Amino acid sequence: MRTLDDLDVEGRRVLLRVDFNVPLEDGRITDDARIRAALPTIEALRERGARLLLAAHLGRPKDREPELSLRPAADRLGELLGGVEVQLAPDLDHVPDGDLVMLENVRYEPGETKNDPELAKRYAALADVYVNDAFGAAHRAHASTEGVARLLPSAAGLLLQREVETLTGILADPRKPLVAIVGGAKVTDKIGVLEAFLDRADTILIGGAMCFPFFAAQGHDVGDSLCEAEGIDPARRILDAGGDRLELPVDLIAGRAFDADTERRAIDGVDVPDGWMGLDVGDDTAHAYAEVIAGAGTVFWNGPMGAFELEPFASGTRAVAEAVADAPGTTVVGGGDSAAALAKFGLADRVDHLSTGGGASLELIEGKTLPGVEVLSS
Ligand code: ADP
Ligand code: MG
Repeated sequence: MRTLDDLDVEGRRVLLRVDFNVPLEDGRITDDARIRAALPTIEALRERGARLLLAAHLGRPKDREPELSLRPAADRLGELLGGVEVQLAPDLDHVPDGDLVMLENVRYEPGETKNDPELAKRYAALADVYVNDAFGAAHRAHASTEGVARLLPSAAGLLLQREVETLTGILADPRKPLVAIVGGAKVTDKIGVLEAFLDRADTILIGGAMCFPFFAAQGHDVGDSLCEAEGIDPARRILDAGGDRLELPVDLIAGRAFDADTERRAIDGVDVPDGWMGLDVGDDTAHAYAEVIAGAGTVFWNGPMGAFELEPFASGTRAVAEAVADAPGTTVVGGGDSAAALAKFGLADRVDHLSTGGGASLELIEGKTLPGVEVLSS
């Protein structure tokens, strides 16, 4: 993969694709982690004398929806750079000639998600060089992530480079033992990830609603738990292939409904009675998982252990998050909700690598090539 060191940027205009797809509430940014994550590349390019033209997407606008303007992101970037102005180009025909300019939401352009070659040419005409630092969008072949990279001298930014090196490094050459913790809502989202770890991990710890298709396959009662019917066959296959390297919960916390105020009970064992849903792993499970995590050379965590958004069902996820934060091994976390859980518990800066890409990080772990990365490698 080509990197910043392969480019000559002095005095040239660099089209820099970033991932500024930040959460907004009433036009205010509620979490600017993604903007902060792009600062090293932005600062490195500016120090080398590049003139920056930033491009990013926000949400999924159907037309030029003003609520999905990048104005708040441009303003926040200016603040984070110490109070400089980031000019916002309203559209591709009106791009000011400054040193720090940002294009409006690239998804305002109908050709963006279709990877329209004409749109890619228009982007390319605006710059001399292309740098992609938008790891979170690298699994999509869009005009601003893939098409334009073919038309200009191009390379990966520092964030994208670190994401790719860290995540592929886990699979290629992990410090052993390698422990994967996989949770979240659906096993069908994560079959590829589980299969990748079946070949490589020493232990796979399963949590979240994902455990119920496994329990159903073993003949346990799952009650009213979230349990994907299409997940049961894949779970059975993974159980057969994974054997003793797969660990499932041994106890659960259940509620009557997905609600913080619902009646709550601890279940010793994993059979969930009718009228109850398993919403978290129990204390014995959390302790056992924490011990495995403490002994790991490398930890990869994706997917919360329970409905951590609801305080009564957050303790399993909190225990695992704390164990990951305290672990002496190399710790890598991927997935939007897993990152949100770490942030909620104040532990986001206690892991070695917190991936900014949800889908992109899972696809890399699955061993897929990402189009936005591939194009920087050929
Ligand atoms: P990530 O974004 O980290 O990849 P997922 O999107 O796969 O994670 O899963 C996160 C969601 O899974 C959370 O919203 C959480 O509430 C839900 N979840 C986890 N465990 C359970 C459970 N036992 N029952 C219902 N929902 C659950
Ligand atoms: Mg999620």
